[in-house]
Amino acid sequence: MKQQLKIAVIGVGHLGKHHVEHFCSIKNIVLVGVYDIDKVRAEKISDKYDITCFSTIDELLKSVDAVSIVTPTEEHKKVAIKCIENKKHVFIEKPITASVPDADQLIAMAEKNKTIIQIGHIERLNPAILPLKEYSINPRLIEVQRLAPYMERGSDVPVVLDLMIHDIDLILTFVSSPIQDIQAAGISIMTKSIDMANARITFENGAVANLTSSRVAKDRVRKMKIFQQDLYITVDLLMSLTEVYRAVDNNKNNKKTIMSAPLESNGLSRQILYEKPPIIKKDALKMELTNFVNSIKGLEKPIVDGKAGRNALELAIKIQDKILEGFKR
Ligand code: NAD
Repeated sequence: MKQQLKIAVIGVGHLGKHHVEHFCSIKNIVLVGVYDIDKVRAEKISDKYDITCFSTIDELLKSVDAVSIVTPTEEHKKVAIKCIENKKHVFIEKPITASVPDADQLIAMAEKNKTIIQIGHIERLNPAILPLKEYSINPRLIEVQRLAPYMERGSDVPVVLDLMIHDIDLILTFVSSPIQDIQAAGISIMTKSIDMANARITFENGAVANLTSSRVAKDRVRKMKIFQQDLYITVDLLMSLTEVYRAVDNNKNNKKTIMSAPLESNGLSRQILYEKPPIIKKDALKMELTNFVNSIKGLEKPIVDGKAGRNALELAIKIQDKILEGFKR
């Protein structure tokens, strides 16, 4: 009988706990155990799920084929190097690392060691984003807002790496064109780093993305608007709501028509059709981790590979650098 895939989680804080819970429910794998520098935390989780609490990463690596790395970003590189050197497949929470050279080093190592490297840009699997696959997306303008109340957790990195990077990864999947220009501004409010940021990214094909992220808001907001020639889509990533407005030329209204204007030349009218694609509410983290397992088994490709994680990080760091330039003025 073929041996089952053995997995462990490194870092079992806020998000790592959920990785443990989901790996326990994925079929045909074994969640062997966990490791965390906080031994009390690791023991609590290992007791709850009746799995091994490893006392070192080296010990853990002797017992597994793959690892989920859910430590703070600054620790990703150090931990991932150890895992990849030992030829383990790695799922790394977003952002891939704290710097682009570090990301490049991990990607090169993973290639050399023939290991999978997957990054946790979970919004790709947000139930409100998934229906967009049914439409031909070629934006002229993307407008994104991601706001959240301040929390100490996550504030170890600037808001661009903590929150905005989710949207950066998404816009890079929607616009297939090199970046021409980046304008950015930001403010430091609660921490010594950037807590509120706005970036305007112009692509060589003329598309523009305007992203705002803040961790100083009373309520959480995660909204995206995509404008293109014949399509306007609004996505509420928090409320799982996707609304699509499609422009078509027609000779009679149909039940989806919400507005129309006569066209001079041909007796047709320009109509705006409104539709709400059905949202299938599935757990995005479970889907992401299942994709990791299936990628290791050669059944699927990672939804977000190391290169995609690296590209999102590169743009995030360019935005951060622009904001910091403004701080010096
Ligand atoms: P957290 O602080 O709650 O947990 C981190 C855990 O890692 C802690 O238990 C800590 O003791 C442990 N740790 C620290 N250094 C370690 C090391 N060298 N080896 C082993 N364990 C170590 O943080 P979190 O909120 O769970 O975030 C973890 C990662 O997940 C970060 O990279 C963060 O950016 C990412 N994250 C992603 C999302 C998402 O939406 N995809 C959401 C939140 C956090």
